[in-house]
Amino acid sequence: MRWTAPLALYAALLGPSLGACDPSAVPGDGVTPARLDDTAVAPNPYADDPYALADSTVVLVSLDGFRWDYLDRAETPTLDRLIAEGAHAAALVPAFPTKTFPNHYTLATGLWPENHGIVDNSFYAPDLHETFDMFDSRDNQDPRWWGGEPIWITAERQGVTAGTMFWVGSEVQWTHGISATYQVPYDGSIPFIERVERVLYWLDQPTDAPRLVTLYFNEPDHSGHSYGPDHAYVTDAIEQVDAVLAELVAGLEARGRLDTTDLVVVSDHGMTALSDERLIVVDDHLDLDRVWVHSWGPWMSIWPMEDSETDAIVAGLQGLPHTLCAARADLPPELHFSVGRRVAPVHCIADVGWTLTSADWGAGSFRGTHGYRPSDADMQGLFVARGPHLQPGARLPATDNVHVYSLLARLLEIRPAANDGELAPFGAALRPR
Ligand code: AMP
Ligand code: ZN
Ligand code: ZN
Repeated sequence: MRWTAPLALYAALLGPSLGACDPSAVPGDGVTPARLDDTAVAPNPYADDPYALADSTVVLVSLDGFRWDYLDRAETPTLDRLIAEGAHAAALVPAFPTKTFPNHYTLATGLWPENHGIVDNSFYAPDLHETFDMFDSRDNQDPRWWGGEPIWITAERQGVTAGTMFWVGSEVQWTHGISATYQVPYDGSIPFIERVERVLYWLDQPTDAPRLVTLYFNEPDHSGHSYGPDHAYVTDAIEQVDAVLAELVAGLEARGRLDTTDLVVVSDHGMTALSDERLIVVDDHLDLDRVWVHSWGPWMSIWPMEDSETDAIVAGLQGLPHTLCAARADLPPELHFSVGRRVAPVHCIADVGWTLTSADWGAGSFRGTHGYRPSDADMQGLFVARGPHLQPGARLPATDNVHVYSLLARLLEIRPAANDGELAPFGAALRPR
């Protein structure tokens, strides 16, 4: 884990009362999620910078499950315009596992899931002897699950008002008492256009309008699961989210704010097609009475009932076709999924498009899914950004989403908290100063 130079400066400015000075609070120990529990407000490091655009706004939009290449198969005039006038990465590479909760929280914190602690949409945590459930609002509010410092807390700490029109982790009731000034608890039934209207309403506030806004849409993920990524209904969903983005852009333009807004559009992961002919039945390789399997489908996380059985379980799984099975310490290092206490001791990851299942279950109801390796092209997402800090026409290679937090801090001209990412991978997206 790096200790970034700016953070060291930040800590030096504020002295030992800052939680970030406590080495036990630094992310990367992979044991318990990192947490910064102080209430210190940092000075704005850009206060005397003549090039600072401190009155600009950042709007971070997530289009859940928008695969990087969806741009080529539907009419997306709004995204096309943002790309033409802004920066575009060939793909945004998610963190493992390529699921919604781990990745939205990696985007928000700049931490790998093993370090922020949200290692799946639902998972067992031996540090708490409890199971996290993405659909349980108590878990979404309980800070014991959530490590690191999401960007809206980094912002509010430094005097930048934030509003979250949904984001994974935005409902946490932090013990330090800081939260986004404007916040809406997750309700997937709120129509997309109302989400945009709510954001525009916040921006219209005469005092204390947010300078950081998050905005989340649960499409085209939902249609991708139901129909598979190649279905015409997914094309419709892509066009639906593009149309709602058009409303956001039009609303900003009508207020004369488009050119002072850094609009960053991302997705958390992609989507791949499933088939009943690509099932991997594990029963002959794994005694399901001796383990607790948490996740199925693209990836199995396996907790042996006895630690001493781990090696034998891994050995028994080696013959599984189309699958990588390993103890967590032996997973490929690029997965960054080996050390966290909430990371299960044994994992099997299927080749993209294959389904790990048991004889009792067979194929599931999904026609499409995600959760496979981040290096599988179908798992990769979207990055488009346009605004005063961003270089028109900038083209970036596929870039890890762990670096987005650093970019957001730069766009807001605030000091990032300690994290696993860095600004350099997005350097080419920035307008030269
Ligand atoms: P996944 O199963 O990984 O495809 O997760 C996608 C689903 O996550 C969405 O359809 C929503 O139901 C759910 N979701 C997304 N954001 C939130 C949130 N902030 N709070 C609760 N659930 C969410
Ligand atoms: Zn998702
Ligand atoms: Zn999904």
